[in-house]
Amino acid sequence: VFNDVCVAAKFIQQQFDVNRIMVVDCDVHQGNGTAAISRDDPTVFALSIQCETNFPFQKTAGDLDVNLPAGTSDSHSLSAMRQAVEQSIKTFQPEFVFYLAGADPFAGDRLGQLELTKLGLCQRDEWIFSTFQQRNIPVAVSMAGGYANDIEDIVDIHFATIDQALKRHGSTNQVANGVSG
Ligand SMILES: [Zn+2]
Repeated sequence: VFNDVCVAAKFIQQQFDVNRIMVVDCDVHQGNGTAAISRDDPTVFALSIQCETNFPFQKTAGDLDVNLPAGTSDSHSLSAMRQAVEQSIKTFQPEFVFYLAGADPFAGDRLGQLELTKLGLCQRDEWIFSTFQQRNIPVAVSMAGGYANDIEDIVDIHFATIDQALKRHGSTNQVANGVSG
């Protein structure tokens, strides 16, 4: 998944008039592949928000890593994310964003170690979409990990992500393209 993001970033840069691409990786596991591949590429900014004690145990430094302790709740997790994204927008000034909307920061996830609720994850998505929309920066969203015991929880979380994207952009077509891309 993470390697595909970098391939997609190159494609977007070549096909459209876009140079600076930011990856906002909110999967609970660090985006170590993205960090490694984009390390020497100043046009791709790798931001990853993850659980510090989770896999991969040896992290690959990205452009900005937010390491949340196991058991982090909605409020702490969301405020850390907001701070990191705002700081990255300021320093990097992205023209395009890939958003990896992991379902595995969920409290009911078997592998996640974080304690986010479904409401918290929905607020995360809403904030991401509205923040970039306000700045006229396009967002391509992708599903990422999700390992809850009850598969319906994973479906709920991913569905809420798409629902938030639809509410922000109001066009099924645009959103569908974003997901498949
Ligand atoms: Zn994951």
